[in-house]
Amino acid sequence: MTEYDYDLFTIGAGSGGVRASRFAAQLGARVAVAEDRDLGGTCVNVGCVPKKLLSYAAHYHGDFEDAAGFGWSVPPAEFDWPTLIANKDREIARLNGVYEEILGDAGVTLLRGRATVLDAHTVAIGDQQISARHILVATGGRPTKPDLPGIEHAITSDEAFHLAALPRRVLIYGGGYIAVEFASIFAGLGVEVTLVYRGAQILRGFDSDLGATLAAEMVRNGVAIRLQTQLQGIVRDAAGLTVSLDDGTELTVDSVLAATGRSPNTVGLGLEAAGVGLDQRGAVRVAADYRSNIPSILAIGDVIDRVQLTPVALAEGVYVAELLFGAGRAPINYENIATAVFSHPNVGTVGLSEAQALARGAVRIFRSRFRALRHTLSGRDEQTLMKIVVDAASDRVLGVHMVGPDAGEIIQGFAVALQCGATKAQFDATIGIHPTSAEEFVTMRTPVTP
Ligand code: NDP
Repeated sequence: MTEYDYDLFTIGAGSGGVRASRFAAQLGARVAVAEDRDLGGTCVNVGCVPKKLLSYAAHYHGDFEDAAGFGWSVPPAEFDWPTLIANKDREIARLNGVYEEILGDAGVTLLRGRATVLDAHTVAIGDQQISARHILVATGGRPTKPDLPGIEHAITSDEAFHLAALPRRVLIYGGGYIAVEFASIFAGLGVEVTLVYRGAQILRGFDSDLGATLAAEMVRNGVAIRLQTQLQGIVRDAAGLTVSLDDGTELTVDSVLAATGRSPNTVGLGLEAAGVGLDQRGAVRVAADYRSNIPSILAIGDVIDRVQLTPVALAEGVYVAELLFGAGRAPINYENIATAVFSHPNVGTVGLSEAQALARGAVRIFRSRFRALRHTLSGRDEQTLMKIVVDAASDRVLGVHMVGPDAGEIIQGFAVALQCGATKAQFDATIGIHPTSAEEFVTMRTPVTP
């Protein structure tokens, strides 16, 4: 039998790669993982974690305003961006150390450098060639910018986490997760924000009530939203960055953030030369068991272009480790994956949107809009939206959607209910927790008339 240097060689120590490597090692495999940047990948370094820390920072703005109604007099608050970034960087450095420890404790060899694939069982790192029974590509993705004149002046979310100073005016281009999250963060930190989106409503693909409600709340929070508008060019001049839009107007800002999607990281990896099939976006084509057309080369996470979410990459990592070195496990169920958008207010969602459910059959819709108890004293006019989509024939709950504080925290629990196939009658039989916003999900009784 061929003796390989390793049983598994993972390229990329992000969420998926670290999880697969660690589990494989714990199952007795000899594992190496290569990483040429910080450990933890997008999520830890330029994604979920720092984004949420910045989002917390931005929330204080509203909290200080809200405090007056509860009897507090708060002196004019001042915000210092370098302090926030330094503290955030310290936490990210700590997490990098934790990742290194996790790998070391599991017995995974960490190789610092850029690895490329040479053939079905060989990778190169520096001038070293290493053989492996299995190669796992877990290189993630990176932000992409649209091709337009002056786009080199625009930053992406990667750079937004490391700006030396907080800009006074920001234009955000896009209407997806990253666009609305950064629009909310910057607006909360006192920046003048304009969000420009080419479509008719932000958060395309989500239940349409979510996009509409979030847009209204963002506008209330001071974000200017320009829909059905595209950027034509960016010019740097004495006033800052002058951005021309396709409606003939111009805007001058200090920073343009392109939040127009992400691409799989496969450039320069040697995959095509090794014969691995990629799709037209450069994502590794994989079968249901994450094997590429070369069975010893597998891929998981953002590089396969399925669902770009950390918990999904983690699940795929565990699946692959079990498949290769354990007893195997049931395929991942990609239905009913709950997700949150950490905009202000948050969006939380699981299951089908109203439109997706309608395409499958008749539905009953339950919807509630209200002002949360806290705002009866804060005076804030923020609306919370909750919505349940029910299959009319079976009474099964197909979708649960929310815009409002802590929507992500609330929807996580309802994701379990959907995973269990809960019916609306079971929602109704559940006693609420009073006074919460979440109780509304078990007290809505009258369907909205279509
Ligand atoms: P999204 O796909 O969510 O949004 C991209 C946005 O850019 C869309 O509004 C899209 O418009 C627009 N767009 C794309 N190409 C162009 C173009 N050429 N010109 C103008 N506009 C364009 O991508 P993000 O970058 O925001 O996020 C990437 C992924 O990362 C998300 O889909 C999500 O899976 C994950 N993520 C998850 C987060 C979370 O869990 N909270 C947070 C951040 C990211 P259109 O709608 O018309 O296509």
